[in-house]
Amino acid sequence: MDSARADRFVSGLWDDEIVPQLVDYIRIPNKSPLFDAEWQQHGYMDRAAELMAAWCRSQPIKGLKVEIVRAKGRTPVLFCEIPGSGTDTVLLYGHMDKQPEFTGWIDGLSPWEPVLRDGKLYGRGTCDMKGFIACVLALAPSFKARRLKVPIHLAFSYDEEVGCTGVRPLIARLGEDLPRPRAIIVGEPTMMAVIDAHKRIDAYKTLVTGREAHSSKPHLGVNAISVAAQLVGELDRIAAELAAAGQDQRFQPPVSTLQVGNIRGGTAPNIVPKSCRFQWQVRSLPSADPAAVPKEFVAFAATLLPRMRAVAADTGVETTHEGSVPAFQAKPDSAAVALALSLTGANATQAVSYGTEAGLFEQAGCPTVICGPGDIEQAHAADEFVSLGQLEACMTFLAKLAERLA
Ligand SMILES: [Zn+2]
Repeated sequence: MDSARADRFVSGLWDDEIVPQLVDYIRIPNKSPLFDAEWQQHGYMDRAAELMAAWCRSQPIKGLKVEIVRAKGRTPVLFCEIPGSGTDTVLLYGHMDKQPEFTGWIDGLSPWEPVLRDGKLYGRGTCDMKGFIACVLALAPSFKARRLKVPIHLAFSYDEEVGCTGVRPLIARLGEDLPRPRAIIVGEPTMMAVIDAHKRIDAYKTLVTGREAHSSKPHLGVNAISVAAQLVGELDRIAAELAAAGQDQRFQPPVSTLQVGNIRGGTAPNIVPKSCRFQWQVRSLPSADPAAVPKEFVAFAATLLPRMRAVAADTGVETTHEGSVPAFQAKPDSAAVALALSLTGANATQAVSYGTEAGLFEQAGCPTVICGPGDIEQAHAADEFVSLGQLEACMTFLAKLAERLA
């Protein structure tokens, strides 16, 4: 399809297919399990998956397979196959869960009530990344109409912010009962730029156990908050070390970073606190050694122990690795990157600092690329929106993909 034809095709689908899909979907407050501990009781994840599945099933596509994969205690994955004559496949991947509400939405806008204003569709998840999913679903019938040689698989999971645990069972099936795709396109918001690398994320939790005492006799206690403060100071020192270390100008910022996200400790002003815990995250360049930061941190923590244990033997510092999202670095000859470059007409790739499932797919031996509508700047903030122009660019991209695979 030439671009003029693709444009006409896109505008025809726009009002009837895309907007109604997105509007229903935005109204479901299916936040990531990280932000909704009771996600199983709330059932929003299932509702969202069912909505998408029902929409897929309503398409007049012969041989279409739609499956909601459920594993106990895990968020569901929606899997869909648009058949083709060959066995080689292309997988389009997205995540269905959303960020929390955030405060500070401008007047008349709110997270769960979609509003179309000045060429932008506002609402939580419009940008990250339901816009992409709506475009994919709207184009599914045209994929089929083109009599594909290469089947297109769709997989929409619930990324859990750190760990990407939702997609792991699906990845385990690639090359087993599902074919290993020749290319995977992850539709995270990139402004349709072709992304071939991202940083790694490691999440940690540190628990300091001290000894309780009355504040009039602090020498009988071990102040867990004071110990935690020293540990946080050490993390800041390591962060400064990372900032001064090797740079990779493809990333913004061009260094590995680390920060403490929360801290909790103590019970009352007149009690030496017994416990203090904090969570922290490292975002490493693909070239960095992810073991280096925790090793340095744990070595520092060990230097604090003798003084703590001189007061009470059962005091200590315990650091747990809570999860990781592997860095993504596409291979130089990646078929997925070459495909996305040719479909967008871009002549260079870019790198991003946020994590996605792309690293997991690439690790599993599947050539992967990240390319999707919208700007990540608008994804994790109030007033989230995706511009209609970006959704149209995505539709054009997908229409050309169908052409290429026909
Ligand atoms: Zn996302």
